[in-house]
Amino acid sequence: MTNPRPNEMTIEEAARALRAREISVRELWDACHSAAEEKNPELNAYLEIFKADDAAIESAQKRIYAGDAPLLCGIPLAMKDNILIEGKIASAASKMLENYKATYDATVVKKLKEAGALFLGRTNMDEFAMGSSTEHSAFGTTKNPHDESRVPGGSSGGSAAAVAAHMAIAALGSDTGGSVRQPAALTGIVGMKPTYGAVSRSGLIAMGSSLDQIGPLAKSVADVKIIFYTISGIDPLDSTTITENLYSRHESKEHLKIGVPRHLLTEGIEKDVLTTFEETLKKLEEAGHTLIDIELPTSGYALAAYYVIMPAEVSTNLARLDGMRYGLSKEGKTLLDDYVDSRTTGFGEETLRRILLGTFVLSSGYIDAYYHKAEKAREVLRKEYNDAFENVDVIAVPTTLSPAFKFGQKSDPVAMYLEDIFTITANMTGMPAISVPMGSVERDSKKLPVGIQFTAPHQAEDVLFAIGTAVERLQ
Ligand code: GLN
Repeated sequence: MTNPRPNEMTIEEAARALRAREISVRELWDACHSAAEEKNPELNAYLEIFKADDAAIESAQKRIYAGDAPLLCGIPLAMKDNILIEGKIASAASKMLENYKATYDATVVKKLKEAGALFLGRTNMDEFAMGSSTEHSAFGTTKNPHDESRVPGGSSGGSAAAVAAHMAIAALGSDTGGSVRQPAALTGIVGMKPTYGAVSRSGLIAMGSSLDQIGPLAKSVADVKIIFYTISGIDPLDSTTITENLYSRHESKEHLKIGVPRHLLTEGIEKDVLTTFEETLKKLEEAGHTLIDIELPTSGYALAAYYVIMPAEVSTNLARLDGMRYGLSKEGKTLLDDYVDSRTTGFGEETLRRILLGTFVLSSGYIDAYYHKAEKAREVLRKEYNDAFENVDVIAVPTTLSPAFKFGQKSDPVAMYLEDIFTITANMTGMPAISVPMGSVERDSKKLPVGIQFTAPHQAEDVLFAIGTAVERLQ
C-alpha cells in the first residue's frame, strides 16, 4: 500500500512517518502549506495563512530525532480565528476585531506549542461564533469542499473545510451550541465538544461563557483523542476547569448500551439521513452493542432555552467591545454617538440581533419570564440526561437533520437556529459529545457526508472515543 500524500495523513500516520524518517517536519509543513495556499482562493477556509516558523519547525525536527517527542510534535494545525495566538490577529471574523493582535497565547495554544505542534493559519467562522454556516463571517463565506455551492456548516466552518480539504492535518474550533460537531458532520470529519471545564477557555474570545468549549476537528477519532488529551486539564487562568483524574471513573467497556431517543426523530429529519442513522445503529447492534429506547421529554424545549441563555451571555460578553477600550472605534458628535457608531459599524446583523435579544431577556421585568425560566429548563434537562445515563452509556442521534445546505437557503434566522436542535443539549448539560461520519446521502448527484452524534456523561470522553471508533470500523 502506498502512503497517502503528507497533507492527507492523519496525525497518527504523520507521527509514524516522521519517526520512521519517511518524511521530515519541513516536508509535512510544506505539503500542508502549499495545499492551503492552492485551495484557499476557492474555499476561503483560512482568513490568514501564516508563514513558516523556521525555528519551530527545526526544534520539532530535533525533538523527533531525539526520540521522545509527543505525537503532535511537528504536526501542522489550523486554528479558529477566535483562539488567541500571541502576536497574531484574532478577529473572530468580525470587523470589530479586524486589527486586534493577541498579546498572549490561549492556554490550548500554549499546550500545543509545548507539544511541538505548528500553526498554519487562522480559519474563517461565523462572527463571534454565532451561526451554523459560516455565512455570518465579515470576511466572506467558506465553501464546502464536497460541493462548493453548499455551506461547510458553522460556526467553525473554516476549520472543518481546512481539515476536510487536507489544508491542515487537524484543527481546533469552539463549540457553544454545536459549532464543532455540526461542521464536522457536514464536511465528513470527526469533531468533539469536551465536557464543560475539561479544556481551558483562557484565550478563547467568549461567546456564551457557560456553554463554550474548545474542541478538536480531525480526520479520525484517534486524532481527536490525541488533541483532546493534549489540550485538556486544570488551568489556574480558568476557574471552571476541572481535574483530570475523574476520567478514570469511566472505564471503556467493549460493548456499550446505546440510548436512542426515537421520540425526537419524528420531525424535520430528511428521510435518507434517518435511514443512514438507522442502518448505522443496526450495524452497531450486530457488532455487539445494545440499543435501548429512551425518553428525553424536555429536549423539545432545549432549543428555546438555549436561544435565551446564549444571547444573554453574548450581550454580556460583547458589552466590552464598545469602541472605547479596544476593537473598532468610531468617533461621533457625542459620547453616545461614539458607542452607537462603533458598535453599529463593528458588528454584523446576526451579532446585533443576539445582543438585542440578550439585553431584552435580561432586562428587569423580563428576566424572570425568560432568563430564569430558561435556567430552570436547563436544570431539568441536565437531570433528565443524568437519569438516562443510569441505564445507558451513550445517547445517539443524527448530528444534523440534513446534509450541507446551499448558500442562502437558511436566510430566515429561525431556520438557521433549528440546525442546532440535536447539538445544543450537550452544551446546555455540559456533557461531552462527538460527531463521527456515518456515511453519505446524495443531493444533485453529489455525495454529501452526514454524521452520527453520541453524548456521554460528564467526563466520559473515553466512552465517546470507544463508540466513535466502533462507528469508524463499520465504514
Ligand atoms: N449555531 C449555534 C449558534 O448559532 C452554535 C454556535 C456555536 O456553537 N458557537 O448559536
